[in-house]
Parts: sequence; C-alpha cells; structure tokens
Amino acid sequence: MDCNVIKDLLPLYVDDCCSEESGKLVAAHLDGCESCRRAYGQMKKMFQRHEEAVSQVSLRRVSDWKASLIQSVLLFVSFAIVAIGVVLEGNTPAGATNGLWAAALIVPATGNLLSLANWFFIRVYRNRKSFSYGCMVSTLAMILLGYGWAVVHYAGQLAVGSPLIWAGIGLSAVFCVLSKVLSNQYALLLGRE
Ligand SMILES: [Zn+2]
Repeated sequence: MDCNVIKDLLPLYVDDCCSEESGKLVAAHLDGCESCRRAYGQMKKMFQRHEEAVSQVSLRRVSDWKASLIQSVLLFVSFAIVAIGVVLEGNTPAGATNGLWAAALIVPATGNLLSLANWFFIRVYRNRKSFSYGCMVSTLAMILLGYGWAVVHYAGQLAVGSPLIWAGIGLSAVFCVLSKVLSNQYALLLGRE
C-alpha cells in the first residue's frame, strides 16, 4: 500500500476512528515501513499531549469553581451572622444587655467579612503559607478593631463576663481558624505553591 494513503489514514488511526479493515491495513503497513512508523510515533505523541492539555483545562475549571464556592460560602455565612446579630441587637431593649449581640455575633462576623477582601489580593502574597497566615492575622486584626469600636461605642454598658461575650470570643476563634484553613485550601485550589 502507498505510504501517502497510510499517512492520510494515520490521524484516524491514532484517534482510533478508522474502520477495523483500515486499521488492520495501517497496522500491517506500519510493521514493515520505518518512515510511516516514525510519522505515527510523532502523531501519537502530539495527540497525547493534546489530550493531557484538555484534561488539565477541565481540572483547572473544577478547582476554580471549588475555590469560589469556598469564598462564597464564607462570605454568605459571615453576612448571615451579621444580619442575625443586627436583628437581635435591634430587638433588644436598651439597658444592661446593650451591645451584647454586637459582641457575640456582629463584631466577629464583620471582622471575618472585611478580612475576606484579602482573598482578592492573593497574587500579592509570596506563597500559600504567607497567604493563609495573612488571612488569619487580618481576620484577628479586624475582629480586635471591632471589639475596640464596641468598647468605645457601648461605653460602660457592655456586661463583661456575660456568656454572650464568651460566645463572641469563641466565634472569633472559630473565624480565625476557618480563615487560616479555608484560605489555604483556596490557594491550593488556585494552584498556589
Ligand atoms: Zn509507509
């Protein structure tokens, strides 16, 4: 069989798309023809590289999607906690309990919400480790600023020692840990070393 005919058939053969008869003809020819065998080897390599590239692109898409899911969930949860805190605080009559819902829910969740801005600047960070620590520290800093504001705003009215204050401190710790763990996961999904 003519080499040119074989070379025309090679793309189909590599892609496993030709009929059984043609496949047998090509295989038989390749056994006896060095030049066509070389062409086949090159084409096969190219085909495999293309397949790999395609599967990497789809993997990338799935990871990007997971990364934005983590970010959105954290954003939504923080926002929901702030909203709940605002409603509870609004329904609390002024008096001894003033500001407790702010300390328990609004301050920790707002701190976390604000520190999420960091995630948009992931490129600024040297690596995954510095990014995740940066996120945790900024969450802590935002929360501390929030408590500073609460102490001034509710001057003397915050019943320190109330279980709600401890709940707020506990929630703050949870947000700091979440910020560290999830920002690390986020960076990992985006392919940061
Ligand atoms: Zn040939």
